Amino acid sequence: HNFTDFPLSWRTLEGLKENDYEKPTEIQRDTILYSLSGSDVVGAAKTGSGKTLALVIPVLEALWRAKWCSSYGLGALIISPTRELALQTFSTINAVGKCHDFSCGLVIGGSELGFEKNRISGINIIVCTPGRLLQHMDENEQMNCDSLQILVLDEADRMLDMGFAKQLNSLVSNLPSERQTLLFSATQTRNVKDLSRVCTKDPVFVSV
Ligand code: AMP
Repeated sequence: HNFTDFPLSWRTLEGLKENDYEKPTEIQRDTILYSLSGSDVVGAAKTGSGKTLALVIPVLEALWRAKWCSSYGLGALIISPTRELALQTFSTINAVGKCHDFSCGLVIGGSELGFEKNRISGINIIVCTPGRLLQHMDENEQMNCDSLQILVLDEADRMLDMGFAKQLNSLVSNLPSERQTLLFSATQTRNVKDLSRVCTKDPVFVSV
């Protein structure tokens, strides 16, 4: 299997090619078709297994298929446990999504909230850490998730270990229910299952 065997937009295929991604890893191979079909996916995959592309490709394709225009506002939200992981995902989106016209913003703190507010106003894809996202949802009246198409929870087990269960639950309950959700986690603990029950609908479970 090569990425060219998947039903991907030419823009994503070009981005993959330019970054020398040719063959999907196991987690990519086993989840991408489900994600592309619009299903919710709960994936168990360790760091280093290629999880980042397994979530970046469906995000780009979901917006592409929805004919998302940069003026449509927020279409995708990716929540990561740490700044480092958020940064890694952000740079993969910029690299693989370079032929798309989507704007992508980081919400990880480290700069003044007001500054970050301006930077993410009207952005199409947000990559964030949970604490900072909640702060925007509380204090940033411009933060509008009404048009969200796809939500990704990355390393969900780690976010739960960090004590974000309650916040994630309340956050997800404030998002539009007509959306796709992808949830990745290194382990499938009881807590991860509880969270996936709250934020996914009829998901496909994939473990590699
Ligand atoms: P991740 O698990 O997403 O952090 O990825 C681990 C490493 O594998 C990163 O350096 C990626 O650039 C690389 N990688 C991910 N997917 C592929 C692929 N399909 N082909 C080659 N390298 C990949």
